[in-house]
Amino acid sequence: MNRLRIPGLRPVAPLQAMGVARFEAGLTSGAPQMQVCNACGQAHFPPPCACSCGGTSFRAENLPTTGTLYAATIIHAAPGALAALAPYVVGLIDLQDGPRLLLRVLGPQGWEPECDSPVQLLILDYDDGPVLAACPENIDLTDTTAAGQNAQAGT
Ligand SMILES: [Zn+2]
Repeated sequence: MNRLRIPGLRPVAPLQAMGVARFEAGLTSGAPQMQVCNACGQAHFPPPCACSCGGTSFRAENLPTTGTLYAATIIHAAPGALAALAPYVVGLIDLQDGPRLLLRVLGPQGWEPECDSPVQLLILDYDDGPVLAACPENIDLTDTTAAGQNAQAGT
């Protein structure tokens, strides 16, 4: 999974909920995991108490690294901690054989999100920890204009 170094602290501290520390450890090692129901095979993230099939036994598997942008929106009026990032893109990502995740989506200057387009997961390494995000599958992450602090949403 690709990584992008971003100086400074994460805009929002992670919740201290069940499974978060394990997920952060997975992000740090580059292999975040999801839970898969042993009864029906449905992938879950975050970890559920029970599957929709009623199953309560899960195995951990690595999150798929690619998926499709199901839907996206451009946030112009952001809450306080995220105001400095606006405008930024948030999208629902359907991971290949995995769960649907709501993530920030980074793109190059002038990029506009397009539904059903291929995306890849991306780990943003802040000074105080990692954050999972996504970007278009063909983006050049070494291009600093393409991977700036503020994802450009186009106008
Ligand atoms: Zn199940």
